[in-house]
Amino acid sequence: MIRICPRCGSKNIARYLYGYPLFDEKLIADLEAKKVVLGGCVIGSVEIDGEWVFSKGYAYCNDCKKDIDTPPIVFNKKKGCWEFYKDIVKEIRFSTYGYLSGYKEHVIKRDDGKIPAYEWDQIMDKLYSRIHIHEWKNKYADKELVYEDGEEWKVELILDGRRKRTYRGENMYPPHWRAFVKIFRDLEK
Ligand SMILES: [Zn+2]
Repeated sequence: MIRICPRCGSKNIARYLYGYPLFDEKLIADLEAKKVVLGGCVIGSVEIDGEWVFSKGYAYCNDCKKDIDTPPIVFNKKKGCWEFYKDIVKEIRFSTYGYLSGYKEHVIKRDDGKIPAYEWDQIMDKLYSRIHIHEWKNKYADKELVYEDGEEWKVELILDGRRKRTYRGENMYPPHWRAFVKIFRDLEK
């Protein structure tokens, strides 16, 4: 169970309860306090390579108004099947631009032989199990703040089958940003 929303950082999140719950006093209180939200009794699962994967969110962010703690999976329209993101990411491009620090770019690739397979798997695990990058917003920016020495950043995930995910920000970052940056810092050691 996650404690903060990976998308906005809010702690105001509710746990999904699926199936037919027993409406006791505690549940009614939790529902009123928005600590619990009912998910209904249709349990959604999808099959990926012979494995059944729960396809819905385990939690709901009361601030984003979105399901969170969702499985890192995506439907491949061309192949007509579900895939795990960790299996289809082939390149990560991460760049920052700061007025004082200049432009910096890190590029890591799955198949160029520079990163051993086990290490790549660990990176994918951090990205999707801990950082929940699939739940990031496309853009993080606070328009009301003006920085003279601010920083812009961009993360591009290049996926198999000419697909791409792009996230960017200006002086604002997703909740697990430090863990994300650490991936690249560790690679430089
Ligand atoms: Zn949120």
